[in-house]
Amino acid sequence: MSSLFPNYARYPITLVKGKGSRLWDDQGKEYLDFMTGIAVTGLGHVPERVKNALVNQLDQLWHVSNLFHIPNQEKAARLLTDNSCADAVFFCNSGAEANEAAIKLARRYHQKVLGNRRYEIIAFKQSFHGRTLATLTATGQDKVKEGFLPLPEGFVHVPLNDLAAVEAAITDKTAAILLETIQAEGGVHIVDQAFATAVRELCDRHGLLLIMDEIQTGMGRTGKLFSYEHYGIEPDIFTLAKAIGSGFPVGAMLAKAPLVPAFAAGSHGSTFGGTPIATAAVIATIETMLQEKAPERAAASGELLVGRLKEALKGLPNVVDVRGKGLLVGIECAGPVAGIVAELQQRGLLVITAGPNVLRLLPNLLVTAEEIEEAVSLISAVLAEQAAAATH
Ligand SMILES: *Cc1c(COP(=O)(O)O)cnc(C)c1O
Repeated sequence: MSSLFPNYARYPITLVKGKGSRLWDDQGKEYLDFMTGIAVTGLGHVPERVKNALVNQLDQLWHVSNLFHIPNQEKAARLLTDNSCADAVFFCNSGAEANEAAIKLARRYHQKVLGNRRYEIIAFKQSFHGRTLATLTATGQDKVKEGFLPLPEGFVHVPLNDLAAVEAAITDKTAAILLETIQAEGGVHIVDQAFATAVRELCDRHGLLLIMDEIQTGMGRTGKLFSYEHYGIEPDIFTLAKAIGSGFPVGAMLAKAPLVPAFAAGSHGSTFGGTPIATAAVIATIETMLQEKAPERAAASGELLVGRLKEALKGLPNVVDVRGKGLLVGIECAGPVAGIVAELQQRGLLVITAGPNVLRLLPNLLVTAEEIEEAVSLISAVLAEQAAAATH
């Protein structure tokens, strides 16, 4: 009997050790990791440089409170602003908190800097933005909202890639549009170039803020350090978490200069946000990603992975589509994929789902061509066996 809440449907696997792309369970069985703790261990498990930075910081200082200057926090923020369109960073501890901060900043910017009463945020169906009350309300999936009524006011949802629906949803209360460039949890749905450009133009025309949730798509995952770079547009606010600390829990909310005064002293905060330890992990993660050209490697490896999957799965009646950007890849199947995930686990490959019918592949950004080959052959074998069994 567990003393934990039963809020996770856990796989029957207990992982006890990891290195690079490999994980080992308590029985000594080895796994090839193509899920990276849901896009968190972007540099693989226990990356040497991040480990050393954490060990060094553990010897020096753990926590002091944001009532003091924290040099690691300054340096981590500078690395982020030097390598993005943002001018300022707020550190927190999770993705939901980063989106919560983005929602608060957007409202406060309109109310305190511009002096209007706009507060409504347009978000998208099938999106995922977190589990706090505001972020689950922003999320475009009913299953995360069940039993949590009443929800906070100020969120509306429209279909992704539907410009007319976005335009129709804009009112004199609208403050911002909240967008993931790839809806990752929601099924690996990719934003069209024309839609992204038009949404940016709509924001400019109506005085709305564009908030991009880069929690899963950021930190090199899609083949650019931040996925908005693919589209030639810039958000006013964007959020990061998942891979930014290589597995140490960190979230960040970043914004452009005009937004910065909206968070005056005392307006927002977090006890643990950006501690010396957390930001040591961020610095080492970003420096390693830049030095190893992790985004560029993710772009090349993603092309290889998608290309090889398309070849290997060609003609299988149970495979509907293979899509993705960089190393955020989805295989849409004709039916539920939970059984496929379990079978792949048996054979030593860890992948996850994105909605009921989509397999999601999230290897680390430094994954090798050999590891990609290994994963493709396991996935194609299992899907081919499923197709063959269905015709008998
Ligand atoms: C994971 C995720 C979140 C939530 O992050 P938590 O750290 O679990 O709070 C929000 N948005 C997106 C796009 C995510 O993938």
